[in-house]
Amino acid sequence: MRLRAGKGYSITALGTGPVPTHPLKLIEANVACTPFDGGLRISGMFELGARDGAGRARPIRHVLRRARRYLPDWTPTGPAVRLAGMRPATPDSLPIIGAVPGHPGLFTATGPGTLGLTLAPATAALLASLVLDGRDAPELAPFAPDRFGRAGHRARTDHHRLGGGHPAPGWVGAVVRRARPDRPGRPG
Ligand SMILES: Cc1cc2nc3c(=O)[nH]c(=O)nc-3n(C[C@H](O)[C@H](O)[C@H](O)COP(=O)(O)OP(=O)(O)OC[C@H]3O[C@@H](n4cnc5c(N)ncnc54)[C@H](O)[C@@H]3O)c2cc1C
Repeated sequence: MRLRAGKGYSITALGTGPVPTHPLKLIEANVACTPFDGGLRISGMFELGARDGAGRARPIRHVLRRARRYLPDWTPTGPAVRLAGMRPATPDSLPIIGAVPGHPGLFTATGPGTLGLTLAPATAALLASLVLDGRDAPELAPFAPDRFGRAGHRARTDHHRLGGGHPAPGWVGAVVRRARPDRPGRPG
């Protein structure tokens, strides 16, 4: 399945000074702030290709620094809860939902990227009717599990033709970019 981890980080802390009374998405900073247990949870980052969920200090500091530009009067006071998590991401940023081809009775609902919680209810509602009644909801068409099948095969073939080794499991775009001979040493 064409998935990569988009690793994100969050820090939850009590603090002094005013905090937002409702969740905010700070678009330019690419950070979200949510009131949480009398404090604030700040989350962000989308590290592609991460291999583990370790909570590294540097990106967490980065997320906090970005948010604090918008919260100049808020100062976190310890102790803070620091978390990291791997969000399943797809090449076209759409989730993969539906019956798995070639495996009758197997279904998948993954790849929501940063919107796992948001998309969960609608995903469950649409998938339930497919699993229980065999009714393929038309709304699920853009999320078909087999949509990368042919393109994935073509990218792997191009990669070998251009002299690449066996491509690591990953998504189509990443495989094609590694194979660009006109930009040696640089991503395409
Ligand atoms: C930094 C960050 C920010 C996010 N922001 C948003 C957002 O703004 N909006 C949004 O919609 N989504 C967001 N998401 C995505 C969202 O958090 C996830 O989609 C959602 O939490 C997935 O829920 P889940 O119950 O499937 O899995 P999880 O929340 O991961 O829960 C799985 C649970 O199972 C436990 N577990 C794992 N293995 C075992 C085992 N073998 N035995 C027993 N227990 C086990 C784990 O400890 C965990 O508690 C964000 C994710 C991250 C990392």
